[in-house]
Order: sequence, then structure tokens, then C-alpha cells
Amino acid sequence: MLEKPTHFIRSKIADQIKQGQLSAPVTRFPPEPNGYLHIGHAKSICLNFGLAEEFSGRCHLRFDDTNPAKESQEYIDAIEADVRWLGFQWDALHHASDYFETLYQWAVYLIEQGDAYVDEQSADAIRATRGTLTEPGVDSPYRDRPVAESLACFSRMRAGELPEGAAVLRAKISMASPNLNLRDPVLYRIKHVSHPRAGEAWCIYPTYDFAHGQSDAIEGITHSLCTLEFEDHRPLYEWFLKKLPVPSKPKQTEFSRLELEGTVTSKRKLNALVTEGYVRGWDDPRMPTIAGLRRRGYSPEGIRLFCERIGVTRKPNTIEYQILEGAVRDDLEGRARKGMAVLDPIRVLVENWQEAPLALDIPWHPKHPEYGSRTAYFGRELWIDRSDFEEDPPEGFFRLSPGGSVRLKYGFIVDHVDTLRVDGKIDTLVVRYDPDTRSGQDHSGRKVKGTIHWVEAETAKPVDIRWYGPLFTVPDPARAEALATVINPDSLVMRTAWVEPGLAHIDPEAYWQFERVGFFKQDPDSTADAVVYNLTVGLKDQWAKKQN
Ligand code: ATP
Ligand code: MG
Repeated sequence: MLEKPTHFIRSKIADQIKQGQLSAPVTRFPPEPNGYLHIGHAKSICLNFGLAEEFSGRCHLRFDDTNPAKESQEYIDAIEADVRWLGFQWDALHHASDYFETLYQWAVYLIEQGDAYVDEQSADAIRATRGTLTEPGVDSPYRDRPVAESLACFSRMRAGELPEGAAVLRAKISMASPNLNLRDPVLYRIKHVSHPRAGEAWCIYPTYDFAHGQSDAIEGITHSLCTLEFEDHRPLYEWFLKKLPVPSKPKQTEFSRLELEGTVTSKRKLNALVTEGYVRGWDDPRMPTIAGLRRRGYSPEGIRLFCERIGVTRKPNTIEYQILEGAVRDDLEGRARKGMAVLDPIRVLVENWQEAPLALDIPWHPKHPEYGSRTAYFGRELWIDRSDFEEDPPEGFFRLSPGGSVRLKYGFIVDHVDTLRVDGKIDTLVVRYDPDTRSGQDHSGRKVKGTIHWVEAETAKPVDIRWYGPLFTVPDPARAEALATVINPDSLVMRTAWVEPGLAHIDPEAYWQFERVGFFKQDPDSTADAVVYNLTVGLKDQWAKKQN
């Protein structure tokens, strides 16, 4: 797969620069601070910041904080942290609320030009007269009121003299437009709520449509990139830019949203999972939020690789979850320290090992000597995973079986001698090690087909494993009537693993691979006595495929 496929927006910008129509792009990422960012936002972040980086332009972070009822400082802080963690730094930080006064003046300007009016109909009446896709709407009785009357009423709205719902400011465009967004859209509504930043200064707030394009224009944004559901809003976006004395003329371009199979990418639904207690918080490792993926052990580079691979188009489609996991795996392969852990242990007695445990110096990564090494031990008593022994091995099973031989990775080849049982259940496998077969110093000429992982029992330490499955039981949970009906009750299973000593220290930054098991990241719940590992993603176990 191409690492950096091009796309229509990138080509367009390159072209504009070549033609001398543009020196460098200015983009923005404009989240509404009403929740944590999710993987869908990562696509938009990578696109906006990525283009600015690539063409030596600028990218702004702008909080679209026009709806104070649902917004909070917690979300603002989390969004900033997530963008930084993904590896991007904004060239400027703005808030739509910084422009409230300018937007208000522009609203007054529209009224004065005869392009807006205060409508005192109820919200229900406005909705009922909007018309449908096939029928035109009906003009409001307030549509042709004198400019002076609208101005007076608008200033009373601002002064807080009217209750919520008593009046709205509407653009005067056309109630017969085939585009519903142009049927005298609402520009301002009354909300007697304080604002996280503006405090009590305002009790009327601009709508998204009235705030967005004008904010772009104020900031000198050249390319205003948004998802396809705003395509029908573009004529309105352009109408405002034409009518108002704005300092620049940005262009809106739409691309398709990221939809990810098996999960939801809507802040409203993610919020419901948190408030209804299906997950432990916005950063629960099962959540498709940036904070959840980070805690789970996804790297920023892995997420960026995923965003590059999926590309940018105008075609709506749903991406398979495996594409995300594949990108993360590809990134972690070179990043993670590799150690040995046994999750379902079975005891192995090496009957011809009489000495104390042997210290082995093993590099953390075969291709990255700079990651250093650790000490693991080989000795008389070991644990291997129960699934690596078969009493009655099927054809092509190359791990341990009665009378068979297997290589213990970084250790020796061992030959099975006996199987001891307690109450009929396998308790111990008795083996003999071959002293001539020590890894790296093997001069025996012996070849065995299987290599398995193991830990030495005396030096092994227990750690807690949080083993995650999908949060939902269906591939399209967004369509479910109630999320409760599609929640997977087994999405988190607590397990214990026996790990080599090098894996039992707290190291919250490092990425880990448990050989032949999967990638893991330590959870912040870890303590010095009880290290907790989150399963990031399992391995594509080529070994199992080939050898089973
Ligand atoms: P949500 O429904 O989750 O609240 P939103 O689009 O309302 O999503 P915003 O905070 O308004 O969320 O979005 C900020 C930016 O991120 C917007 O430009 C939006 O188009 C983009 N974005 C949001 N969701 C996705 C997605 N799934 N794929 C790509 N871009 C997205
Ligand atoms: Mg939104």
C-alpha cells in the first residue's frame, strides 16, 4: 500500500500554488467543545494540520464554542491535549466566541441592508412554515417588518429583555429555495446561559452557520475543510461572505466522514456510553476516543499512519476496524519492546537442569539495539502456555507434544520426556534440555520446527491484564435504536499473566509486545506492586497460521 496516497484536496492546493493563486494554505480544525475527540476527528486533524505542514502554511485550532449549554472547560483542555499528543501544534488558538462582538455588528449590518429580520414567531411556527423538499415554505408575518423595528427588537434581545424562544434573528433569503438551508435560516437565538469563556456577556448566541464562515474569513482561512453533511450549507456559507464586509473569502471544501465499522463516532453517543456507565469514562480503552486509544496503547504515529492509508475522498464509506488495527500493529512492531509473558501457564520441569537459574541477556528488540536489553532467566522450573502443548497433536502441530521437541525462545531446545497428572489433569511436563542448543551459541546442528515463549517460574512475576474485546456486538452500532441492546457484556475480561522480571516494572511511556500474544501498554492504574497491562491489539499470529 502507498504510504502517502495523494487526494483531491492536496492536488488542488498544489495546483493553486503552481498557478500562483496561492502562496500557502491556511486551514483550521474547528471542534465544538462538547465532548472528547474521537478517531473521526483524527482524520480531520491529520488533514488540516498535515496540509499546512506539507505546504508550509498555517493551521489554527478554533473552538466552535457557540452553544454554551453543552460545552465545558474539561472538553477544551482534553481537545488541546489530544491534538498535541497526535503530534500537531497549532499556529494560532482561537475561539468563535472571540468574534461574538464582530458577528453581532455584522448581524446588525445585515438588518440594515434589508438582509435579516427579527422573527417573533414560536420555534414550532417557524418549523411548521419551513416547507419540505417538495413544497416551498411560507413567509413569516414578520419578514417585511421595518428595518428599524428589527434593529430595536434585536437590541432588546441582546439586552436580555426577552425570554428564550421569544424571538430569533433570521436571514432574509427565500422561503421558496429548493435548498432548505436557504429558507430564511436562523442566525441568532436567545439563550440565558453563561458561556465558559464569555461569561455573562451574552444571552443571544450565533448559530453554527452564522459563526463558521465568518470566523474563517476573520482568520484568513483559505481552505475551510468540512465533512459532506455541510455540502448543502455551502450556498449559505457563500451568501454570508458575499453580503458581509468580511476581510477575506475562504472556500469551503467537503470530504467524507470517517465511519469505522464496529464502533460509533458521534460525541453524543460516546457521551451516552459514559453517562450511562457502559464504560469507565471518556478515556476507557474500549472507547474510540483519542484519549481511549492512547490509554489502550495506540501510538500517535500509528493513528497518523491509519489516516494516511484511508486517504481523503468524497465517497461515503465505512472503514473496517482491521485497517486501524493493522496500521497500529505496523507502527508498534518497530516501537514496542518485546518480552515474554505466559497467560495460561502449565508447569515444565527441566529434569537435567541442576544448577541455579541462568541469567540471559536479551535485547528488547532484535532490530533496535538502542532499546537496550534486560536479564531473563532459564532454570529447572518453567512455565509455558497451555495451548503450546498438545497430547494428541494434529497434523502440522510443531509445538510441544509427547516425545517431541521444541525450542524455548532465547533458551534451549527441550525434549519431552513425561507428562505428570494430578486428579487426571495435566500438572507438569517433564523435559530434558539439550546443552548444545543454547540460542546464539547453538553448534548442535539440530533443527526443530517450533519455537515457543516461556518464563522461569522462580523469577516470574504476576501482572494484571485487561483483555479487551469489541465494545459492541454488531458491526453497525450507530444504527441500533438503543446502544444498550448492542453492548458486548464481555468487552473487558480481567486476567493474570506471569511475566519475566523485566516486564514487572512501571514504565508508563513504553510500548510492549508480549511475544506471540499481542501488544500491550501499562495502564495508569498500575502501582509498584501491581502492574496493569491493557491489551492494545493482538498479533496477526503468522506463527499459529503456519504451524497449526
Ligand atoms: P460529533 O457528531 O462527533 O459531535 P461533529 O462533526 O459535530 O462530530 P465537531 O467538533 O463539530 O464534531 O467537529 C470538528 C471537526 O471534525 C469538523 O470539521 C468535523 O467535520 C470533523 N469531524 C467530525 N467527525 C468526523 C469524522 N467522523 N470524520 C472526519 N471528520 C470529522
Ligand atoms: Mg458539531
